Amino acid sequence: MKFDELGLGPKVLQAVTEAGYETPTPIQAEAIPKALQARDILGIAQTGTGKTASFTLPMIDILSRGRARARMPRSLILEPTRELAAQVSENFETYGKYHKLSMALLIGGVSFADQEKKLDRGVDVLIATPGRLLDHFERGKVLLNGVQIFVVDEADRMMDMGFIPDLERICKLLPFTRQTLFFSATMPPEIQRLTDTFLHNPVKIEV
Ligand code: AMP
Repeated sequence: MKFDELGLGPKVLQAVTEAGYETPTPIQAEAIPKALQARDILGIAQTGTGKTASFTLPMIDILSRGRARARMPRSLILEPTRELAAQVSENFETYGKYHKLSMALLIGGVSFADQEKKLDRGVDVLIATPGRLLDHFERGKVLLNGVQIFVVDEADRMMDMGFIPDLERICKLLPFTRQTLFFSATMPPEIQRLTDTFLHNPVKIEV
């Protein structure tokens, strides 16, 4: 399987080539075509398998059709820690270098003001930790009812950090009709239960 057989557009493929990737990893080969077909995905995969590109690449492609509106992000990626959120935003910039998509990183330890300015201008992609996202929501600075693509990354780590109630709250703020890509390294019963409510007829990919 080659990258150009997955259904991705030429600009994303160019960025991937420049990143030095030659062949898709197994999770990329399985997840990218399904994500481009608007399917929900349950990915059981560890860090290091290339899972970040498996959701960011199709997301960039899908969002390249359409425009951002103030305070209404078109996609949301939740990460358990600031470090992971920052890492995903770096990947997003690498893969999205030929697209004019706007991104905001909502993590703790950074001033609210700069994050709010970005939200006001309109963002295509919001990358956030659950606590900081809910802080912005409570301040009335972000609305989640325009989210078309929702990504939960490292769900089991979120559970270990006590984020399940936050996740459930965030999910209720999203539109019912959306695409959800859900990743976890393990599937304990609490995560299984979450996937039953978050995902609609998902493609299950285990690597
Ligand atoms: P991840 O599992 O998303 O944390 O990715 C692990 C590492 O693999 C990251 O440093 C990526 O830059 C790299 N990577 C992702 N996909 C590929 C690929 N298809 N070929 C080579 N390296 C990759």
